[in-house]
Amino acid sequence: MGRKIVVLLGHPGVGKGTQARAIVNHIGIPQISTGDMLREAIANKTTYGCEAKEKMDAGELVSDAIVNGIVAERIKRDDCKKGFILDGYPRNVSQAETFREQVKNGDHLCDLCGTKLIHRSDDREDLIRERFRTYREETYPLVEFYQKLGAYHQVDGMRPIEDVTEEILSIIHKKKVLTPVTNGGK
Ligand code: AMP
Repeated sequence: MGRKIVVLLGHPGVGKGTQARAIVNHIGIPQISTGDMLREAIANKTTYGCEAKEKMDAGELVSDAIVNGIVAERIKRDDCKKGFILDGYPRNVSQAETFREQVKNGDHLCDLCGTKLIHRSDDREDLIRERFRTYREETYPLVEFYQKLGAYHQVDGMRPIEDVTEEILSIIHKKKVLTPVTNGGK
């Protein structure tokens, strides 16, 4: 299997994290969840964790500079050489473009984050509404972004988890998920 980069897109609560973990178990490439990494940064009280917390508590997106930075660091790790699954990133077209450049330039990535089970401070009805609005306005345009690259595949997430996993795996095995890396994919 060549290097696989999977971007899971879907509105909040659709099961992206569940599917990412299932795929990890099947094909052994790591999951990268920007939400988990940001929550870890908040728990560790890092500088960018403080900035991220304000945005996350408001149901808004954390700045592109922060999330692009943490993903760029993650994708340099050796365990991402075979590929990785992005869960919650990119979240808008600007992030998608930055990420595409990084991949073209040959960066590698990450590992499972292993964060503790916590009640998320953004898990409230008003914030969930705001997160859906953010999704529609900022993240949904990525459907067209990846369609234009011929790298978009829609999956109905309202079926049993195992069926959804099976369909995602069949797409990963049959198709290129992103356009080929031009520098030889090192
Ligand atoms: P998630 O766990 O993916 O639902 O993310 C939780 C929150 O973290 C989101 O509502 C955003 O505030 C923030 N977040 C996660 N990923 C990103 C991203 N790629 N860009 C901006 N903010 C993000």
